[in-house]
Amino acid sequence: MRFSTRAIHAGQPADPSTGATIVPIYQTATFTQAGIGEEQPYEYSRTANPTRTALEECLAALDEGRHGLAFASGSAATAAVMSLPRPGDHVVAADDLYGGTYRYFERVLRPQGVTITYVDGRSPAEFEAAFGPATRVAWLETPTNPLLQLVDIEAVAALARPRGILVAVDNTFATSFLQKPLALGADIVVYSTTKYVAGHSDVVGGAVVVNDAGLHEQIKFHQNAAGAVPGPFDAWLTLRGVKTLALRMARHSANAGELARYLREHPQVRAVHYPGLPDHPQHALAARQMSDFGGMVTLQLAGGREEADRFVRSLRLFSYAESLGGVESLVCHPATMTHASIPAADREKRGITEGTLRLSVGIEDIADLRDDVDTALRRVSAGA
Ligand SMILES: *Cc1c(COP(=O)(O)O)cnc(C)c1O
Repeated sequence: MRFSTRAIHAGQPADPSTGATIVPIYQTATFTQAGIGEEQPYEYSRTANPTRTALEECLAALDEGRHGLAFASGSAATAAVMSLPRPGDHVVAADDLYGGTYRYFERVLRPQGVTITYVDGRSPAEFEAAFGPATRVAWLETPTNPLLQLVDIEAVAALARPRGILVAVDNTFATSFLQKPLALGADIVVYSTTKYVAGHSDVVGGAVVVNDAGLHEQIKFHQNAAGAVPGPFDAWLTLRGVKTLALRMARHSANAGELARYLREHPQVRAVHYPGLPDHPQHALAARQMSDFGGMVTLQLAGGREEADRFVRSLRLFSYAESLGGVESLVCHPATMTHASIPAADREKRGITEGTLRLSVGIEDIADLRDDVDTALRRVSAGA
C-alpha cells in the first residue's frame, strides 16, 4: 500500500465486534477479563486501548516503521525517548531546537545527571567532534524552527551508527509524508502530532516510531510506567486528522512555496527562509532528503518590533497565535513567543530578530492568503 492508502487503512480494519467501519472511540478505562490467568490484548487503558492501538499502528505504517507509540503530547514523547540515556550518559543535540525540548534537556535531564552538548546541526562534522564514549543519543530536528535550517539525517546517522549512538529525529515539521528518518538511517522518530499529523489545531498529542523491538520495549515501558498517554477521544481525533495528511501536506507545501516566492520579491521583506527556494543555502539537501518543502515560511521584515506588530495586527486570515501545522494559517513572532526564553543577544546571533516572523501557511486559497499578506505589508510601509 502507498502512503495515502496506509493513512486511511493501516491499523484500521472494520471493528471486530460490531463491523463499525470507522475505529470506535473505546471510552473505557478497563476491560472485563474472562478468568484468572487468561491473557487478553486489553486490560487497562493506560497500558493499551484499541483506539490508541489503531493510531499507533497507522503512524508506524506511515513512517515505514515496525512500532508506533502514542503519547499525551509531543513533550511526553520526547520525555519517553529521553528516558533512554541514564545518569552519566551524554547527549549531542543540534542547537536549533524546539524551546520546550531545550527546556526539558536543561531543566529535567541535566539535573538528573545526563550531560548535553549542543552543536550546529548544519554540520555533521560538529556532531562527530562532539561524540564521545558516553554518548548515547544524537537528537535533531529538521527543518528547524523558525529559520528552517536543515540537518543531514543520513550523514549524522552514518557517523553515529558505528559508535552505537542512537539517532532521534523530531519530524514534526516535515511529517512522514515529506521525510522518512528511519529510511535515512535514524533509529527513532518523534512527533508532536498536535501540529501537521492531527492537523486541525484541536488536539494535543505526540508519537514515537521505531524499528527495533528492544527500543520499542524500553520506550513502551516508560509510556506505561509514566502514563502520559492520549485518551481514546484524542487518539480518535488524531487518527481522523491523519487520514488527510497526504492531501494537506501537498497543499501546505504548494501554498508555502508560492507565498515564499511572492515574499522574496517584496520590497518590505529583507529575507525569506524556505527550503524550497533555490537560493536557500541547503536547498540541495532539502530536495534530496524531503519529497517537498513543507508549509512553514519565515520572513525577515524590513524594520523591528513596531513593523512586526503592525504586520500581525493587519493580517485578517493569518491568526497571530502559537502552534503551527493546522489547516488555518497562523503567524508567530519568535522573539517574544517560541524563543522568548533565549537571551536576546544569543537569539540575534542566531538570526532571530524583532523583525522575524514565522508563517504556518494553511490550506486556504492561496490567492486569499497572498492578498492578506500583501495588504498587511502595505500597511507596514504606510506606517499606519
Ligand atoms: C510543538 C512541538 C513540540 C512539542 O509538542 P507538544 O505537543 O506541544 O508537547 C516538539 N517539537 C516540535 C518541533 C514542536 O513544534
